[in-house]
Amino acid sequence: MAEIVLEGITKRYPDGSVAVRALDLTVADGEFVILVGPSGCGKSTTLNMIAGLEDITDGTLRIGGRVVNDRAPKDRDIAMVFQSYALYPHMTVRQNMGFALRLAKADKAVIAAKVEEAARILDLTEHLDRRPAHLSGGQRQRVAMGRAIVRDPKAFLMDEPLSNLDAKLRVQMRTQISRLQRRLGTTTVYVTHDQVEAMTLGDRVVVLRAGVVQQVGAPQQLYDA
Ligand code: ADP
Ligand code: ADP
Repeated sequence: MAEIVLEGITKRYPDGSVAVRALDLTVADGEFVILVGPSGCGKSTTLNMIAGLEDITDGTLRIGGRVVNDRAPKDRDIAMVFQSYALYPHMTVRQNMGFALRLAKADKAVIAAKVEEAARILDLTEHLDRRPAHLSGGQRQRVAMGRAIVRDPKAFLMDEPLSNLDAKLRVQMRTQISRLQRRLGTTTVYVTHDQVEAMTLGDRVVVLRAGVVQQVGAPQQLYDA
């Protein structure tokens, strides 16, 4: 089970500002949840607390049934997908995708197999030996996703992964991401400020405003509201 449970999660930054206030949210195993809302409402802070990149001031965070408040990011069994510029420019696609597994000292044959499988799923097989500079924006973003997939994480955490792409590519990648998530069935939390992404990508939308949940529902319910 890779349920993510936030109970009374609060983030107070050292300057005293409260970015997230007593947030309760359960993301079911395999569910695709979108966090949406205006700039500054606390989306990234929430995602970063789930990832372990920001300390939780108050509340309890469970991933797959275990309290992970004090666990390092690498011990949370999650993978972050950032914007595509987070690729290592000097590494090939193959090296970029295998990087986390190499750090974790996985077996070479296992790494090769996982990278090739991810490349197949993401339609990157022909590009494995290229460097990011020689790829299109959409291909780079798929490499960023490949890096996450190869780790077989319990959950994907995505922070505005499409915001660097042009409008046409965004539409293509939206389709690819939702297909990929359905195919893998990996619990996903996806942050965006884009209403269209919020309404088309996920199973459920959580609208944040000033660090609190303003609305939660299936995209269609929110649309009707
Ligand atoms: P969003 O991702 O929705 O744009 P953030 O989570 O980045 O929002 O920010 C939420 C609030 O926390 C904002 O008011 C922001 O200014 C504040 N904030 C973010 N990072 C810090 C920080 N390191 N120190 C103080 N306040 C911060
Ligand atoms: P940093 O230098 O920022 O700590 P590294 O890439 O050196 O990040 O990786 C440190 C740890 O983070 C590794 O043990 C790895 O398992 C984990 N890690 C690597 N890539 C990701 C990712 N996409 N999402 C979450 N954790 C990751």
